[in-house]
Amino acid sequence: MTNALTVSDLTLTFPDGTDRITALDHVNLRVRGGEIAAITGPSGSGKSTLLATVSTLLRPDSGRVELETESGTVDLAALSRRDAATLRRESIGIVFQQSNLVPALTAVEQLEAMVHLGQTWFVSPARRREARSRARDLLDAVGLAGHADKRPAQLSGGQRQRVNIARALMNDPSLLVIDEPTSALDQERGAAVIDLIVGIVREHRAATLLVTHDRAHLHQMDTVHRMVDGVLSLESEALAA
Ligand code: ADP
Ligand code: MG
Repeated sequence: MTNALTVSDLTLTFPDGTDRITALDHVNLRVRGGEIAAITGPSGSGKSTLLATVSTLLRPDSGRVELETESGTVDLAALSRRDAATLRRESIGIVFQQSNLVPALTAVEQLEAMVHLGQTWFVSPARRREARSRARDLLDAVGLAGHADKRPAQLSGGQRQRVNIARALMNDPSLLVIDEPTSALDQERGAAVIDLIVGIVREHRAATLLVTHDRAHLHQMDTVHRMVDGVLSLESEALAA
């Protein structure tokens, strides 16, 4: 049994004066675990809105967002706010354009903090040790072994983006959504971050949506989609094969 995401007929509008803007217009998409669906398209076409809706941060007007995991299939669009928050914490990894790291925390602490989110009472010492060791392993995996004790201000843009990616993996997500991870990076660092994401997705088997404006990386993706005015269409398939 593998993870998979199936988006069906997803529509979302925003109020715009007396009218409404259609940010997502009957979007359909399927991504299996271990695969990356790239989303390209002009600014303002609805790419970030799609990621926010798929990751339960926005609620669609209509349509379904089904996430299959080994514990069954849930429609993310139909969850209560509370259940959505729990599911996000446990099963969804989110990487935004800006690496919203906490300035006061070191790299390893940024990751460890994920374990304390939503804990209303007490995290056992054993659980803490496990979190620390997982955090160190993930920082290792993103090439930051020597930087675990640095704060964001002591890291480069590319290193901060790596911390961000490692943090999104702390809960071993079934679904990973990544919004323009290379937009603040130069060509070389951008390529290294994409290589890292591809390797991690293959290994951790998360169903992954990746928004990118950089066509140079598209050959590494499993499918490439294009968003224009809220309408998503398939541009190419299995380029990476
Ligand atoms: P992209 O990520 O492709 O640049 P977005 O998903 O951010 O596009 O935006 C899609 C459309 O929805 C744009 O017209 C944008 O202005 C509008 N939009 C996005 N977020 C909101 C919001 N919170 N309220 C109103 N309109 C929004
Ligand atoms: Mg965007």
